[in-house]
Amino acid sequence: MAIATINPATGEIIKTFEPLTNTEIEEKLEQAQKAFRTYRRVSIPERAVWMKAAAEILEQKKEKFGKLITLEMGKTLKSALAEIEKCALVCRYYADNAADFLADTPVQTDASHSLIRYQPLGVILAVMPWNFPFWQVFRFAAPALMAGNVGLLKHASNVPQCALAIEEIFLQAGFPKGVFQTLLIGSEKVADIVADARVKAATLTGSEHAGMSLASVAGKQIKKTVLELGGSDPFIVMPSADLEAAVATATIARTINNGQSCIAAKRFIVANAIADEFEQRFVEKFKALQIGDPMDDKTDIGPLATPDILKELDSQVQNCIQKGARVLIGGKPLSDRKGNFYPPTILTDLSIDSPAFTEEFFGPVALLFRVADIDEAIALANNSPFGLGASAWTNDEAERDRFIDEIEAGAVFINGMVKSDPRLPFGGIKRSGYGRELSIQGIHEFVNIKTVWVK
Ligand code: NAP
Repeated sequence: MAIATINPATGEIIKTFEPLTNTEIEEKLEQAQKAFRTYRRVSIPERAVWMKAAAEILEQKKEKFGKLITLEMGKTLKSALAEIEKCALVCRYYADNAADFLADTPVQTDASHSLIRYQPLGVILAVMPWNFPFWQVFRFAAPALMAGNVGLLKHASNVPQCALAIEEIFLQAGFPKGVFQTLLIGSEKVADIVADARVKAATLTGSEHAGMSLASVAGKQIKKTVLELGGSDPFIVMPSADLEAAVATATIARTINNGQSCIAAKRFIVANAIADEFEQRFVEKFKALQIGDPMDDKTDIGPLATPDILKELDSQVQNCIQKGARVLIGGKPLSDRKGNFYPPTILTDLSIDSPAFTEEFFGPVALLFRVADIDEAIALANNSPFGLGASAWTNDEAERDRFIDEIEAGAVFINGMVKSDPRLPFGGIKRSGYGRELSIQGIHEFVNIKTVWVK
């Protein structure tokens, strides 16, 4: 895949980039290793000053960065601006909390004193996706850098300008040269970098295929990995739920980020008793969504990030239709305009052998299922290779407790939309990956948890 900025709303090639040569990659690895030797000795309060400066730069240049995001991957400008604000939040969160999260933890044993100490691992490679081009990187970098690690970013090939801007933010904030570097490289270079002895661990957010490929190389080298992969989150609505709030949230939860979010609600599982009403209101809400120029404030849904994503999404939809699915709205690409536009779509009557049961739909396509009761709802929710998040809507306490206990996912949200929050751990189970980002768990992923025992 070429490294280039291609406007998804028009198909126009804006800027192309030459990938780094092997010599340049080698220089950056050396630089990272060298930076780690001194950066690991920098105190946490000093790192925090730089991290807070990064937050300020993000806020000061919010418009510029937001427009860059929209230009490169097509999300609406208003959501891109919100993404930048969230990045500033995560920088401040770890600047304020890292000292507590990484403080020695005394433990009473048979020693005179024993404790747990948290120490950085070294150079960490982050392979990141385009769908939240700033947020995905900052939620890795803020904890990793506060813990004293140094970062190498291999960003998705369609967001090179975002990748370079992020490197510049950390430099301008005061982090020493080499502490955070962007590598403009294709994915074929990743395996060698993971295998390089100077790289101590890796994290990847992206597709299952990319995750498997990186983790198998890391596995051979006995290196720690964190994988944040795809999801097909259920959104369950029971008869006792506030239907109006559920439908309004369902609409946002499916179409947020033009439908390209790992934790977007993808499978809507509704109790028979309220299914007709839910379906009718859901279709009305989808009809009202404005598709168009992502820079325009009135737009709800912009283009998909690349023509390939559009092609893949449409082939999944057509496959479902061929296997008997009914189209309630949408169902084919918009051919009246340039760019990668796909209309908000709702499919129902989905056959068990269709991709609805096994694949992630990365675009504004909702899959609607009806169930008799909570047993069927939980069974259907869990009948997925993925286990990232789940949202369940009920005002019945017993049902709420069953959803919390029995849904196989990294997160369960009751009467709310699944979202990431710096204060709460984020990650999945099953084929959605392993390890956690954010919160105290996130900063502990890339540290040596050292046992100290003294007599
Ligand atoms: P992708 O194709 O896997 O790309 C993600 C990153 O991996 C890119 O930097 C890509 O580089 C790189 N990559 C691709 N193939 C690779 C390989 N064989 N070895 C090493 N690196 C490789 O994913 P995507 O389709 O762009 O992103 C969407 C996916 O990410 C969805 O499945 C979504 O659910 C998931 N996601 C998960 C989370 C989470 O937190 N769980 C968050 C956001 C997105 P190139 O661009 O150069 O190919």
